[in-house]
Amino acid sequence: MANVVTRFAPSPTGYLHLGHAHAALFAEREARSQGGTFLLRIEDIDRTRCRPEFETAIREDLTWLGLKWTGEVRRQSDHLHAYRDLVAMLNGMGLIYPCFCTRADIASAGNAPQGPDGPIYPGTCRALTHEARAKRIAGGNAYALRLDMAKAIAQTGRLTWRDLDAGEVVATPEEFGDVVLARKDTPTSYHLSVTHDDHLQSITLVTRGEDLRAATHVHRVLQALLGYPTPDYRFHPLLTDANGRRLAKRDHAETLRSLRDSGKTPAEVRALAGFS
Ligand code: GLU
Repeated sequence: MANVVTRFAPSPTGYLHLGHAHAALFAEREARSQGGTFLLRIEDIDRTRCRPEFETAIREDLTWLGLKWTGEVRRQSDHLHAYRDLVAMLNGMGLIYPCFCTRADIASAGNAPQGPDGPIYPGTCRALTHEARAKRIAGGNAYALRLDMAKAIAQTGRLTWRDLDAGEVVATPEEFGDVVLARKDTPTSYHLSVTHDDHLQSITLVTRGEDLRAATHVHRVLQALLGYPTPDYRFHPLLTDANGRRLAKRDHAETLRSLRDSGKTPAEVRALAGFS
């Protein structure tokens, strides 16, 4: 059987908490239990929220926990040109259009059906003429680049992927509508960079939390468009606090550092993260 390659791919927007420890230990176990390889990737495309000191802290905290990754750490912000090239390629395939809408525009477009990622984009800018687009761009209006999902699906046809627990899954990317592939503030997006990097790092098994299960449908369509093979997938539950709420940075979930400072050992923290 081929070498299993997994990865942990955090964003350096804060200190790691037990939910991250669970995700990292889960990915590492999937690799190690099969004699495979575990990699680390820093997903720092959001230049306003990511900070180098959090990246340093991620490495320190994982090392303290006893996690060892193989080889160089891939940092997404070092590869923005590569994502730009991919968007240009998809544009050449006639699948991309500029979108000038603000969040408020989309919200006020009214009764937009909800997709897995929030309201489905109503397609306002898809209908703009070439001249209208050129005029707005020349006028300095900021724009994102969206994937024309209906066209993309027409090119790829029916797609499936394998969830190691649930079996074959039929991809339903239409539920997302025209996703953003390059944001106004950065020449890529989560969906594009994660799909590209999983391919470049030869990831054979993507492990991620249940909250990102749905995103896999978008990644599957991107793999097909970009000619990338499809890895297997396995999803882990999200850890919750005493009130049943999912641990999150924004709610100030207790960090691995604070657990360490309070005298907990790595083994105790691994146990708290569900890995005794
Ligand atoms: N960077 C993503 C996160 O922090 C995880 C990447 C993925 O599994 O798709 O939630």
